[in-house]
Amino acid sequence: MKPGCVAIVGAGPGDPELITIKAMRRIQEADVILYDRLVNEELLNYAKAGVVVIYCGKSPGQHSMSQEKINGLLIQYASEGRRVVRLKGGDPFVFGRGGEEALAVVQAGIPYEVIPGITSAIGIAASAGIPLTHRGIAASFAVVTGSRCPEHVAPIQWNRLAHSVDTLVIYMGVSQLSHIREQLLIHGKDAQTPIALIENGTFACQRTVTGTLENIDKLAVATKIKNPALIIVGEVVKVREQLIHLQGLVRSEIS
Ligand code: SAH
Repeated sequence: MKPGCVAIVGAGPGDPELITIKAMRRIQEADVILYDRLVNEELLNYAKAGVVVIYCGKSPGQHSMSQEKINGLLIQYASEGRRVVRLKGGDPFVFGRGGEEALAVVQAGIPYEVIPGITSAIGIAASAGIPLTHRGIAASFAVVTGSRCPEHVAPIQWNRLAHSVDTLVIYMGVSQLSHIREQLLIHGKDAQTPIALIENGTFACQRTVTGTLENIDKLAVATKIKNPALIIVGEVVKVREQLIHLQGLVRSEIS
C-alpha cells in the first residue's frame, strides 16, 4: 500500500478468520484505521505499533460520526501522506457506503482501492447451515435492505420480491420484521414459507431462530432477537433443519 492512499477494506461478517489475506495485509500496513461498529475489534490487534485507530460507529447514548466527517478524515490523513484503511463490516460495497467514500476520496484526487469482504449474507448463511441456492429448491437469491432512510422515497418493492426471487436475505430488517412479514403475506407469499433470524452471525454467540412467515413475529419477541441480525426467507431454511437432524443421527450412531 502506497503512502497517501485510502484502502476501503471489508472485514468480513464477524469471525475474525473470515477476512481475506489482502485485507489483513492492509491492516498490518496502515498508519490510520477508521473502523465501524460491526467490525470485530480483534482484527485491530494485527495493526502495527503506533497506528492511529478511530472508531466511527455509534456508542451508547452517542450519535455515529457523520459521513461527511468520515470522508473529511479519510481525505485529511491521506493528504498528509499516511496509509489510510477504512475498515468496514462484511463487504464495503454491500450496504456499506463504500461507494460514497470512494467517490469522496477520488473527488479529492486521492488514490483509493477497495478490498472486498465476505458479506453477511454469505458468511452467515454458511454458519447457519442455510445454502442460499439449493438444487431443486432455490435457483436465485436477492440481498435486500429491510429499512430505508427517510430521504429515500422509493419503497422496497415487496410485491416483486415476494415472487421473483427464491431466497430473500434481508439486512437491517429485524426492527421492521412485522412490516416485512406483513408485506410478504399481503403480496401473496405463502404463510408457511420458512424464515430464519440469525443474530450475531459467525460470532461464538450466534443465535438462530427459525419459523414460518405465520409465526416468526411471536418467535422473535419470545427470543428477543436483536441487531445485528439477518433475515433469510425461503424454502432453503429447511435444509438447515435437515442438516441438524442428520448430524444428530450421525452423532447418536457414533456414540
Ligand atoms: N456491509 C455489511 C452490511 C452492513 S449493513 C455486509 O456486507 O455484511 C448492517 C446489517 O448487516 C445489519 O443490520 C445486519 O442485518 C447485517 N449484519 C452484519 N453483520 C452481521 C452479523 N454478524 N450477524 C447478523 N447480521 C449482520
